[in-house]
Amino acid sequence: MATPILEVRDVVKTFGGIRAVDGCSFAVRSGVFTALIGPNGAGKSTLFNAIAGLHAPDAGEIRFDGKRVDGLPPHAIVARGLIKTFQIPRELRNMTVLENLMVAAPRVTGERLFDLVRRPFDIRKGEAEVIRKAEEVLGEIGLRHLRDEYARNLSGGQKKLLELARALMADPKLVLLDEPVAGVNPVLAQKILEIIEGLRKKGVDFFLIEHDMDVVMRRCEWIIVMHQGRRLVEGAPEEIRRNPAVIDSYLGG
Ligand code: ADP
Ligand code: MG
Repeated sequence: MATPILEVRDVVKTFGGIRAVDGCSFAVRSGVFTALIGPNGAGKSTLFNAIAGLHAPDAGEIRFDGKRVDGLPPHAIVARGLIKTFQIPRELRNMTVLENLMVAAPRVTGERLFDLVRRPFDIRKGEAEVIRKAEEVLGEIGLRHLRDEYARNLSGGQKKLLELARALMADPKLVLLDEPVAGVNPVLAQKILEIIEGLRKKGVDFFLIEHDMDVVMRRCEWIIVMHQGRRLVEGAPEEIRRNPAVIDSYLGG
């Protein structure tokens, strides 16, 4: 089997006395649209945050593209092509959609920044490149018409699209989405899922946490069920739907 794009091995993350992630292991294969499901409090979001580098696991290993990433800071993980989407922070709500994308472009390193300071012409060239990339991403996710709109004026679903667009500015190989269509109206939710499909066809992998079983069963190709901080079972949607342990712990009879 090919090296999995993401491998989680015996990961533990505790908060005080709570073992939010308690020895969790699984692999995500490239090209396979994979969902992480499980009851509230199962540890899904904590695990995603650990994968994205927001908190270092207390134990275990996380490999992306075959290389250890656990313990690396988020920007170093992003630089390798793994990114998680985030809510638009308060301070960016008064910026336009285009500006939100521009500030999401990966930062130049200190050395490169020094180069740019010495050669102002390259700064303009760099900015033009970022704008070009932002326009391309806006086209991909169908937000071009909102380019100059303030982020605060977007609908809930459009904000989710903007979160995705900001992640795409980093040219990721794998995008982690924590409930990308939660609270989004069904029409826009379908649109978001179709945009994800389009990006998958271009070779971007997605791994999502989703509680809407309709979405998971219809759209995803592989499902990992998490329960009490661990992987309970995994399988194709049909197997998961029929699995008695899943029905007991999650689907509820
Ligand atoms: P899920 O996303 O599956 O609903 P979470 O990862 O959010 O689960 O939460 C798993 C457990 O960890 C819960 O008991 C939750 O209360 C706890 N938890 C999550 N984040 C924190 C935190 N920052 N501090 C303390 N406890 C937390
Ligand atoms: Mg959660």
